Amino acid sequence: MKSFGVATVSAIALVLPLGLVSPASAAVDEKRPAVVETRVIGHSVNGRAITAWRLGSPNSSKKVLLLGAMHGNERGAVKTLRALRDGRAIEGADIWVVPVVNPDGYAKNTRQNARKVDLNRNFSTGWKRAGGAVNSGRKAFSEPESRAIRRFADEIDPRYTISFHQPLNGIDIRETGNRAWAKRLAAQIRLPKRAFDCFSKCHGTYSMWFRKHHPQSAVITVEMTKNPSNKYLERIAPRAILRSFNATR
Ligand SMILES: [Zn+2]
Repeated sequence: MKSFGVATVSAIALVLPLGLVSPASAAVDEKRPAVVETRVIGHSVNGRAITAWRLGSPNSSKKVLLLGAMHGNERGAVKTLRALRDGRAIEGADIWVVPVVNPDGYAKNTRQNARKVDLNRNFSTGWKRAGGAVNSGRKAFSEPESRAIRRFADEIDPRYTISFHQPLNGIDIRETGNRAWAKRLAAQIRLPKRAFDCFSKCHGTYSMWFRKHHPQSAVITVEMTKNPSNKYLERIAPRAILRSFNATR
């Protein structure tokens, strides 16, 4: 952790109302020692920033990508990912977190983005035209949010990635690319192992796309319950995530 600039940032923090200090370089944020970098990886349809935090050890070869709120009304994991960000420094993994993939949907508490597209049906693998709640967009990657995730995942090429959802209460450990990790995560995060089929057959999901384009890596969709407790979201789940790939804090 570099210590330069801490005094300056603290001085500014004293004279500005809370929330106006933007940690453009989180390396000087003494309150969040786990954060080593903050980056804007794209923008939503309505121009909201899609932000990524880098936590842990950048030199670790164990690269991880965690995605929250791809469906804007599934807000539980955002608390979990913030708890990961806000705790002590993390060692043993290089973890990138995109807490809110769908910031427009998050702002309005809707599943879809501002163009009413379900981003988890807008990826190219198995994409098909669909409407209603699972509106897949006018074509694969028609939406800036899914394009931002594609670009970012391709750039960092994580060895592990988790896409967090609600409320189906379980982990699908089939075809994750790393069954040992999947079973470990399922046990630690206290969710039953079960098969999810997206109501009939999945199409155009992040997991399908990632699996095809990063075949050496592992991907898991985690479905939390409808109303997890704060204890679960802010203590149990963050610890489970770290333990699943033997990272510590
Ligand atoms: Zn979802």
